[in-house]
Amino acid sequence: MLLGAVEGGGTWFRAAVGHADGTIQRSIRLSTTAPAETLSAVADFLAAYPLTAVGIGCFGPLSLSVTAADYGGITATPKAGWSGVDIRGILAQRLQVPVTIQTDVTAAAIGEHRLGAGQGAESLTYLTIGTGVGGAFLVKGQPVLSQLHPEMGHLPVRRQPDDDFPGLCPFHGDCLEGMVSGPALAARWGVPGERLPVGHPAWDLSARILADGLATLLAVIAPDRLILGGGVGQNPALWEPLHRHLAVAVRSYWPRLCLEDWLLRPELGDQSALLGALLMASGARRGAG
Ligand code: ZN
Repeated sequence: MLLGAVEGGGTWFRAAVGHADGTIQRSIRLSTTAPAETLSAVADFLAAYPLTAVGIGCFGPLSLSVTAADYGGITATPKAGWSGVDIRGILAQRLQVPVTIQTDVTAAAIGEHRLGAGQGAESLTYLTIGTGVGGAFLVKGQPVLSQLHPEMGHLPVRRQPDDDFPGLCPFHGDCLEGMVSGPALAARWGVPGERLPVGHPAWDLSARILADGLATLLAVIAPDRLILGGGVGQNPALWEPLHRHLAVAVRSYWPRLCLEDWLLRPELGDQSALLGALLMASGARRGAG
């Protein structure tokens, strides 16, 4: 029984065929160009296999209310040409199998919950910090369904007293994404994050801001576990100051929280979202997704 998976990103798309246990038989990766061209290439690849269902994890924002007229489509995105694209509908029409869709970060959370660092967690937050900042929240391995989906990157965070950087978010300026994303790091310090060495003040400042954001997430949804992914999120230089500042942020109110067990890195490398999409396809096949 073959399943299909699609991971849609702003820079590239990946598609895979595999099985419900998370084994991938074949995959492709292609640059994200115009929607018609990219989705046609994805559909061509998947159509060559006798699939029973397809799962998609895609950049958003997405319309995820199953009763909405635009369900499964991208809503308003700054990615040129992609606003209003009915990605789920286009692939369902072409492949004629059940197709289910979630945000790419929700797919990554599902992948990590089933096969990676989130195994066994009753509730789980996956937060990715890279080009942007995004988050997903799962309860018993499933996203909480509502009209909207979480936008954890746009959490307001307190301004640090020694910081006058205005932030890069076009909507809010100094929200979490505006302050700690890869582009924000590069704009603030003049070099990309991967060239900032361990011990650079950039990491301590980012860690203070991020610890504030994580304490807010803890106060609102109290996930059993938090997985921090993305190129910036997994940078080893961030880890030590983040633990130090987070320990201060949580010790008075959550003294029993063991940060070593609560805050983890992803275990599936760059496969989290693709594997999550494959597992979502398994749910769609059973009629549960
Ligand atoms: Zn924002």
